[in-house]
Amino acid sequence: MAHLLDSAKAGFLTTYGEPAEGVWSAPGRANLIGEHTDYNGGFALPLAIDRRTWVAVRCNGTDRFRVASAMYTGVVEALLSEVGGDQIPKWATYVLGMAAVLDAGYPSSEPRGVDIFVVSDVPLGAGLSSSAALECSVGVALNDLWNLGLSRTDLALAGQRAENTVVGAPTGVMDQSASLKGKADSAILLDCRSNETEVVPLGLRADHLVLLIVDTREEHSHADNEYAERRASCEKAAALLGVAQLRDVDEELLKAGRHLLDDETYRRVRHVVSEDARVLETVRVLRDSGPLNIGSLLTQSHISLRDDFEVTTQRLNLVVDVALAHGAIGARMTGGGFGGSAIALVPENCVDEVINAIGLAFVAAGYGEPGFFRAVASDGARKESD
Ligand code: ADP
Ligand code: MG
Repeated sequence: MAHLLDSAKAGFLTTYGEPAEGVWSAPGRANLIGEHTDYNGGFALPLAIDRRTWVAVRCNGTDRFRVASAMYTGVVEALLSEVGGDQIPKWATYVLGMAAVLDAGYPSSEPRGVDIFVVSDVPLGAGLSSSAALECSVGVALNDLWNLGLSRTDLALAGQRAENTVVGAPTGVMDQSASLKGKADSAILLDCRSNETEVVPLGLRADHLVLLIVDTREEHSHADNEYAERRASCEKAAALLGVAQLRDVDEELLKAGRHLLDDETYRRVRHVVSEDARVLETVRVLRDSGPLNIGSLLTQSHISLRDDFEVTTQRLNLVVDVALAHGAIGARMTGGGFGGSAIALVPENCVDEVINAIGLAFVAAGYGEPGFFRAVASDGARKESD
């Protein structure tokens, strides 16, 4: 990790000809359980992972922003008033969008321009929320440099707003909450209605378990549409059932209102309602008896996402089936679905076998090579260096 700190500083110096004022970082996240519950006001249990995005930043004393990333060539220059226009490359809108949301929410008469250089080892588009890592690293940096004094919850909401209104992705607040509030060896129980969080110790190492992340490297061109469609379906169902959000529906209410819903909508709701219950049950089990007993809850979550919410893919299903057949105690897709990554909770002594078996199954199915890494639950966004 130290080398990414050095890369951020060196990249800044080469790009802008002066040293940065400081370096901040924020992690990507994996969601242990609680999928497609966030925009329904429900519960999720994400964790911050040990892959981070690092930003080296300096106030430049003007109104202009300059943004560069090791992943893209060139420096993007813009005024905040230009953010949202089509001159700005999409990747830079995550950075400038965060700056614009914070500037609009907490205005100042001082010039606010900054120069930023970004480096990261969070894989892009793998469902591990490189977008939140980028927004949140910028968020904590500007919170310090602009003396905003904002709480982690305020920053998470600002990141969500940037992603919703500037980038145009209708995501919930889970990713930013995990990236900002993560804790080592812990998951974060997030109540997506109040945005309150609780730290839930995981204790994976003590029980010789590894959280294996498998990136299918599958891109689904319809993911955005499908996501919007699922959201719309949940909102429609809530209205038909006479509640503000599906968070307010329990099994009894769903049974009573079943005749109001077509079969597909009913299954969508059944996923959300059962998933909320599984999140709370996972927290209870973790606290009572530890992670060895949460495996079947993870797998049930996958089955519900596969059969009721219909957001998995053949590759995600294959990862889960093969992982379970080779010793994983639980496995599920993580993130929005339609590609991206799956997680498997695997006893240490089975990890190599699970990785090999998934690799072979992908070859046999004619799929491209998946990516693997062992995720370690890590601390959230922070300042790394002056
Ligand atoms: P995910 O959040 O699952 O990784 P998204 O599509 O939400 O996928 O966000 C990925 C996008 O975020 C990238 O396509 C890019 O535009 C931007 N991004 C993330 N990390 C970086 C980075 N280090 N440098 C530049 N852009 C980045
Ligand atoms: Mg994202």
